[in-house]
Amino acid sequence: MDITQLNAVLKPDEIGQEMYHLISELYPICRSITGNGFRETLQIIKNYIPLNIYEVPTGTQVFDWTVPKEWNIRDAYVKNSKGERIIDFKKSNLHVVNYSIPIKTKVSLTELREHLFTLPEYPDWIPYRTSYYKENWGFCLSHRQLLELEEDEYEVCIDASLEKGHLTYGEYYLPGKGSEEILLTCHTCHPSLCNDNLSGISLVTHLAKQLGSLSLRYSYRFLFIPGTIGSITWLCLNETHVSRIRHGLVVANVGDSGKSTYKKSRRGDAEIDKAVSHILKHSGQDYEILDFSPYGYDERQFCSPGFNLPVGCLMRTPYGCFPEYHTSADNLDFVRPEYLADSFSKYLAVLNVLENNKKYLNKNPKCEPQLGRRGLYRAMGGQKDVGTFELALLWVLNLSDGKHTLLDIADRSGLKFDLIKNVADALKEHDLLEEFSD
Ligand code: ZN
Repeated sequence: MDITQLNAVLKPDEIGQEMYHLISELYPICRSITGNGFRETLQIIKNYIPLNIYEVPTGTQVFDWTVPKEWNIRDAYVKNSKGERIIDFKKSNLHVVNYSIPIKTKVSLTELREHLFTLPEYPDWIPYRTSYYKENWGFCLSHRQLLELEEDEYEVCIDASLEKGHLTYGEYYLPGKGSEEILLTCHTCHPSLCNDNLSGISLVTHLAKQLGSLSLRYSYRFLFIPGTIGSITWLCLNETHVSRIRHGLVVANVGDSGKSTYKKSRRGDAEIDKAVSHILKHSGQDYEILDFSPYGYDERQFCSPGFNLPVGCLMRTPYGCFPEYHTSADNLDFVRPEYLADSFSKYLAVLNVLENNKKYLNKNPKCEPQLGRRGLYRAMGGQKDVGTFELALLWVLNLSDGKHTLLDIADRSGLKFDLIKNVADALKEHDLLEEFSD
């Protein structure tokens, strides 16, 4: 089976439910850029796809960065003088500033407040905060709860360790017919946050699982890495191989109700940029296309000038553009199976374009071949408009000169890629078209 056939048999409802199920499974785990939460997450993904797990030691130099100490957390709380846990890591892992150093001490309310973080504009939500590269500790809580805190002596405990260890990441390489690769990557370092980025993790996992049984033109590489330091580490360790990457997508924020948004690669006119734009334009839904900017997710590293890889980012609502972003409200209610399924089908449609986007040669380039004789053109003449299928035939024949890909032809004609591809197949069957390789 190839990717076009898979597209036809997949049931969106089932895929959406399966993706949502994996998100629910991973939601409780406290992840960070290193540590056991990350490993546990990869072990669960391994139940779906044959992932290889890599461990990079603390202190490893990766370009201008150093792999940090490994962080692990067992428990954390703030207790009042009655011994009641008024902030409890076991209720939500967002309560602890991610990468907090271990601490056990008693503090006044004034001292405690210096280490507390809230969102006054959303008084019921807990913010998500990190302190990866500066040793510090802190707690996050709802603003409503902060306002209720009274003068007291508080017991603060963060039972964590920040020690020499490893940075862990997961990689699944799926060989296709050729050695050129398509890269699909997701940041896997956030704790209990669903859209950013359990949705991306689940989409990459299910895409990898579905593609695993297909006959593919490209080889595929799926990465589950911690944000920023993970892509820097991966690029540093794999620098000699990255020229094989022909197309890439950073997968994030794919489960919310917002419209699809594509952020182009730094190149701006790469085949991946054209393929995603084409799919969104013909989706029949609202969408947005953004130019590249050097802020965002791991495309920042893949598109740094020393690599400049054709890697874009296909999301729904972008980072920072939904109020729930990096808060406890990015929860299991915020992502829905139907939006996950919609994102999945768009990713699959993009890959379908890339897998089939080839150049052809018209074997009968001097004037038009007689299509009616071959049953390819309607017999009845005189109608005002040419049919869409016939129009597609004429476009494919006219532009199949070894210079235009099927996607070029689709875009120039304004017709859907799928139709152009079907027409090319029909012309091939009638020996009017042959594949062209430069
Ligand atoms: Zn984030």
